[in-house]
Amino acid sequence: LAMMDVLKIRKDFPILQREVNGKPLVYLDNAATSQTPQQVIDVIVDYYSRYNANIHRGVHTLSQEATDVYEQSRQKIQQHFNAAHPYEIIFTSGTTHAINLVANGFASLLNKGDEIMVSALEHHSNIVPWQMLCERTGAILRVIPMDLNGELMMEEYHKLLTNKTKLVFCNHVSNALGTVNPIVEIINAAHNVGAAVLIDGAQAAPHIKADVQELDVDFYVVSAHKLCGPTGVGMLYGKEEWLKKLPPYQGGGEMIAEVSFEKTTYADLPHKFEAGTPNICGGIAFGAALDYMNGIGFEAIAAYEHELLEYATKQLLAIEGLKIYGEAKEKTAVISFNIEGIHPYDIGAILDKLGVAVRTGHHCAQPIMDFFKIPGTVRASFSFYNTKEEVDVLVESVKRAKAMLL
Ligand code: PMP
Repeated sequence: LAMMDVLKIRKDFPILQREVNGKPLVYLDNAATSQTPQQVIDVIVDYYSRYNANIHRGVHTLSQEATDVYEQSRQKIQQHFNAAHPYEIIFTSGTTHAINLVANGFASLLNKGDEIMVSALEHHSNIVPWQMLCERTGAILRVIPMDLNGELMMEEYHKLLTNKTKLVFCNHVSNALGTVNPIVEIINAAHNVGAAVLIDGAQAAPHIKADVQELDVDFYVVSAHKLCGPTGVGMLYGKEEWLKKLPPYQGGGEMIAEVSFEKTTYADLPHKFEAGTPNICGGIAFGAALDYMNGIGFEAIAAYEHELLEYATKQLLAIEGLKIYGEAKEKTAVISFNIEGIHPYDIGAILDKLGVAVRTGHHCAQPIMDFFKIPGTVRASFSFYNTKEEVDVLVESVKRAKAMLL
């Protein structure tokens, strides 16, 4: 992306025009949620203005139109992630819902003493559902350790894998540090011992286009709100054989074939996992968001964001006492840092006064903070609509915060 393109792209995002505390907004909390372009907002407005109706069951025109567009969106998502079939894409309310769905399903497949494995770099949403699964089944949770660079210790991983390992789950990209994990190696090694793999793509999806067939991954999960889409919608990709094996998660309308008080049979994929009225508009807007991002191109996005990352890292490291956590060889445009002697929250509060939005705290990844023995960090996370000028504002603002607080 040339700078010219970025200025043009910024015009697509109405929110980027606003001010915060009398200053132009510098939005650097993209890892928490991305902003929404007018093209996606228009799709949402169009849905509620023209064809809002419940799907899959109506004979009337509006219902059929809504069903068609919703199912077309499923196909867009299928094509984007290169799933073999549209019915391998299950609409969920987000990554958290998708992980809970799989964890719940594995309760019927695990026995006491089976092992499941998580990485040390996870978001709480990819830890807690599995701990709950262990409580239910007597399975044992193992942890792939990390090193001081914020990279997984792959030798340890290979040692931990045995024929007791039934499932491995790991994020593609860490939300707290930006580390890109070696998921190809993780998936292949797990398959060698017969274990299934779930990859949490919540942080990868805005930067990297994953090909689920090439990866040969069993489950891949994302949230639309991190990829220029709305909140409350996401995806579970599952290989057909696995989705057939897992029992339904929630019961209700849409997910049944026949219901009587004696016996109920379940609908085929994908409806088996889609009980109740879904987030119809959200599902449609999810597809529109992928169209928007593909229009820019994921290679261009990744290359440009990498430039921003290098530019920001160099300038921030020049500030005395500033330490960046996570120095993985491969990372996305996330910088997690602290300044010696200052609480991250205090820096975040001053940055907000200066119009700069960053995240402070443990980023729903307390085990990572415990590993570094810190309460949290300041996290600046960049998107393709951020500029070098905004990085300059961040750096100047951090310097001001430091001068005020020390
Ligand atoms: N996993 C990762 C790596 C994340 O960054 C997030 C969101 N911060 C989640 C899972 C949870 O996503 P959601 O809250 O959209 O369900």
